[in-house]
Amino acid sequence: MDPSQGPRGQLMAPEVLAGALKARRLFLFLDYDGTLMPFSGDPGRVVPDGELLGLLAALLQKPGWKVGIVSGRALEDLRRLFPVSGFFLVGSHGAEIQDGQGQVLRSDDPAEFRRLLGGIREALKDVDLGEGVLLEEKPYALALHYRQAPEGLPSESLDAFRRACQPAVERGILQWLWGDQVVEVRTARAHKGTAVDQILAQQPPGVHPVYLGDDATDEDAFRALQGRGTTVRVGAEDRATQARYQFRNVSEVRRFLKAVVD
Ligand SMILES: [Mg+2]
Repeated sequence: MDPSQGPRGQLMAPEVLAGALKARRLFLFLDYDGTLMPFSGDPGRVVPDGELLGLLAALLQKPGWKVGIVSGRALEDLRRLFPVSGFFLVGSHGAEIQDGQGQVLRSDDPAEFRRLLGGIREALKDVDLGEGVLLEEKPYALALHYRQAPEGLPSESLDAFRRACQPAVERGILQWLWGDQVVEVRTARAHKGTAVDQILAQQPPGVHPVYLGDDATDEDAFRALQGRGTTVRVGAEDRATQARYQFRNVSEVRRFLKAVVD
């Protein structure tokens, strides 16, 4: 079987896929929340467990193998979660990349970007966003969360947010990202697919990329790896995906990692 070719979103037994890949030199790109770790109401409490850290360390021991942790979280957050060298860390949906030696690559100048987001916040400072609506600044994004808002996101708040961000969107600096109870603008210069491309361009030939991820932002990486990597969407529900295979949940991801290490 050629794990990089064929139809999309095919349910696959983790051990079978691991068996098909084992002979290759793998670069494993692993999304964090919802893929390596189950979701929790409080993302601050989602800390990698001993089993996971042991498995990832064992993968790094395999000659020529590499491991990248990919996330929408800030790079700084990922460094706290994985305070060991050797891993590639991809933060802020691809805008911040740290390689195995700790070298950092950013899609945009951080100070310039902070100024841009500061300007948007300034434009919104007198706007009542609504009860429970939170504006969160991240390294390369500004997010309007309304999970805690009893009335949802008021349309006036959304309009104000759009007006404040639109000039930078039109200039191609920011792009919209619609998530679950969150509207975000983030850098338009990077996504998980551009990060994977950039990292792979530096790798020796013969490395086979494998990417596991659970959400819409992982689709950019699935697309980037079409025809040259093995892609797996994680999630029980049926939805359109660019990934070749599907695992149902985080425990199937763990079974895959165990099988590929053995
Ligand atoms: Mg995820």
